[in-house]
Amino acid sequence: MYKSIAIDGPSGSGKSTIARLLSEKLEFLYIDTGAMYRAIALYIDRLKSEGSVETKIEKHLEDIDIAIRHENGIQKICLNGEDVSDDIRQEAIGNLASVISVNANVREKLVALQRNIAKKHNVVMDGRDIATTVLPNADVKIFLTAKPHTRALRRYKELLEKGMEADINDIEADIIKRDERDMNREISPLRQATDAYVVDSSDKDLDDTLTEILFYVKRKFDERS
Ligand code: C5P
Repeated sequence: MYKSIAIDGPSGSGKSTIARLLSEKLEFLYIDTGAMYRAIALYIDRLKSEGSVETKIEKHLEDIDIAIRHENGIQKICLNGEDVSDDIRQEAIGNLASVISVNANVREKLVALQRNIAKKHNVVMDGRDIATTVLPNADVKIFLTAKPHTRALRRYKELLEKGMEADINDIEADIIKRDERDMNREISPLRQATDAYVVDSSDKDLDDTLTEILFYVKRKFDERS
């Protein structure tokens, strides 16, 4: 039986960094499910045809193949065989991912893929609905959050470091809009599982956050062994 750790939370809470570090420590596979939604968003964004996002999804979802592979522990995401790991990181694609992720067929396709991976590997999986929907029996569930302003500031610094232009107010407004959409959608909204440990990283650095989460993981694994 493979082990799984679910990490959910809003955008910019530090989930991916924490999940990656945790997976390295435990030698589990890191699965970034947001990247899968982003890859579908990128496909839709590239379509030149007319029509609404919903129509495009309906017409093209079957043509979209999402696969992940790992290179030296780093997740690479492939869209119909093309490595799109860098392209999906644009802010616009993140926002479109939040729009397409309300679609039931998109979710069904990706949840099946995510469950399939967890059947074959020990995983640290991060997203919005991992503990509530994808892996309700995950061994450890973490809900990682932080105040919207803190999250916006982190994203802003990241973009500046990459040499990109950014406006802190626009980023914070986008984060709030995305939270609202993710928390209020009909299917699998972002919600903390009743049995999740809640970790607020607003006033903690990466090391402290990781230490707290490792403590919960170790305690859970010790209880179960
Ligand atoms: O985490 P990330 O910002 O890469 O995710 C992009 C978008 O994909 C989120 O805003 C969310 O709407 C969607 N998503 C989701 N379920 C997941 C992971 C991401 O709905 N498990």
